Amino acid sequence: MAVFNAMETIVMNLFDEFQKNYEMKCDCTTCKEDVFALVLNKIPPRYTSSEKGQLFVKGLYINPQLQSDVMRELMEAANIVEHHQHHREESQS
Ligand SMILES: [Zn+2]
Repeated sequence: MAVFNAMETIVMNLFDEFQKNYEMKCDCTTCKEDVFALVLNKIPPRYTSSEKGQLFVKGLYINPQLQSDVMRELMEAANIVEHHQHHREESQS
């Protein structure tokens, strides 16, 4: 039995959209992953079985409320990451 968090797919897709309108100060993989992780920690997970997964993700993805929630979290997370660029402060962590 396999389950996955549908929000991972949704956040990943919306992150692409987000980056078309917002230029992050640093767009290295570390910063992107930090943003991605922060958002996923803030947004409640929606687990689904892999069998129903695609439909479930589609159903969530077209929800405008959910989209704007994710976009808002992406904006917040991008700001946080830009002010704490962990990968450049390795000695402090
Ligand atoms: Zn970076």
